[in-house]
Amino acid sequence: MKKLITLILAVLLLFCSTVNASALELLGMKKGDTDLDGKITSDDARTVLRCSVGLYIPSLLIRSLFDLNSDGKISSEDARLTLRLAVGLDGTGNKPVSKETLAKNISEKVSEKELDRLMRGLCSMGSRSVIFPKTNKKAADYISQELKKAGLTPEMQTFYYAGIETQNITAVLNEGKKNGKILLLSSHYDCWDGAEGAIDNASGVSALLHTVMLLKESGIAFNCEIRITFFSAEEMGYYGAYHYLSTLSADEKSRLSVFNIDMAGNSLLGGGKMLSVSTNSAYVSGAVSNELSRAIDNAKNFTCNMGENGYYSPVSAGLHDIVPFEKLSIPAVTLSWREIRPAGSYGSDYGLSSPSQIHTKLDTYENFNLSSLTATTKLIINTVILSYTV
Ligand SMILES: [Zn+2]
Repeated sequence: MKKLITLILAVLLLFCSTVNASALELLGMKKGDTDLDGKITSDDARTVLRCSVGLYIPSLLIRSLFDLNSDGKISSEDARLTLRLAVGLDGTGNKPVSKETLAKNISEKVSEKELDRLMRGLCSMGSRSVIFPKTNKKAADYISQELKKAGLTPEMQTFYYAGIETQNITAVLNEGKKNGKILLLSSHYDCWDGAEGAIDNASGVSALLHTVMLLKESGIAFNCEIRITFFSAEEMGYYGAYHYLSTLSADEKSRLSVFNIDMAGNSLLGGGKMLSVSTNSAYVSGAVSNELSRAIDNAKNFTCNMGENGYYSPVSAGLHDIVPFEKLSIPAVTLSWREIRPAGSYGSDYGLSSPSQIHTKLDTYENFNLSSLTATTKLIINTVILSYTV
C-alpha cells in the first residue's frame, strides 16, 4: 500500500514544475543526494556541477534535489553547498565553519580498513629497494594508481642511482596562487634491500596516500600550493630527495617547506615509543623549531590523544629525506615513530632511535602497529587543515 501511495505521489510530482522539500521527504529523498543512494558524497557534488553547466539533465522529479539554495536555478553555488554536505558541514552556506570543525570532521574519516589495504598492497610485493628495479617500479606504479584513484594526475620523475633507473612520483593536490607558498608533503617508498619495509616506510606512504585521498575528496580551499612526492632511493642517501630538489628553480626553493613522513606506524615489538618531529640532523648544535614543527605541535594539541601509542616529542633531530632541504635552509620536518633507547644504536639522537626492527627482516606487515598509523594519519590531516586552509 505504501509503495502504491509513493508511486502515485511520484507520478503527480512529475507534473509539478517545482517539487518542494516536504514532498521530497515524503518520498524519502533529501537535497544533495542526486543518485538517491541515501548518502551525500563528492560524487553528488560533481553531478550538481555537471548539471550547472548543462552536461547532465536530471528528471523533473528529482530536479529540486540539485537546487540546494532553492533559488530556482542549478548553479555552481549549489555544487559548493552539496560538497559542504558531503564533508559533514552545514549545507545552507550561511554559517561560517571553523577550521577546527573541518579538521575534526575530516580526520574522523580516517579509516583503519583503508590504511590496512594500502599497507597490504605495499608489503606484499617484496623489497622495494632501488637495487630491485622491477619491484621498485611496481611499487611506484601502485602509488601512481592510488593517486589517480584519488583524482590526482601523478608524474614519474626518472633518475639513476649507480646506473640503476628509478623514479620519484609527484603530483599536485592544490594549485595555489602564483608566487605563493609551496607545501611539499613527502614520503619515501623504497626500503632496505633485505626487508619488507612495512614500518620503514610502507607506513609513511600509506599515511600520505590516505591523507591525499581524504583532502582531495573534501574539496577544501587551501591557502598555498600543495605538492605530493614519493621519493625513491632514500636508503641509499636521500637520492630521490636530492633529485627532486634539482628539478626546482631558485624561486620555487625560496617558497618551499617540506612535511616528510617516515615510519608513520610504530612496531608491535620493542621498547617505549615516541612520535617525534625531526627538524634537522644537527646532532651537535641541537634541534630547533620551525613553522612546520609548530604547525604539527598545534595540531597535536588539538588532536590531544595519542592513546596507547606513547609519547610525543615536538622537536628532535633525525636522518631522513629532510637532509637535502635542511642543507639549503628550507624549512622541513620529518614526522616519525622512534624508540626511547640509550644513544649509540642505529639512527640514535637525543636518546631516540629508529625502531629496533628497522633495516632487519623483522620489519614486516605482521609487526607494524595499525593503531599508531591511524593516529599519525589523523595528526597529518589536522596539521594541514589547521595551518594550510583558507
Ligand atoms: Zn625511512
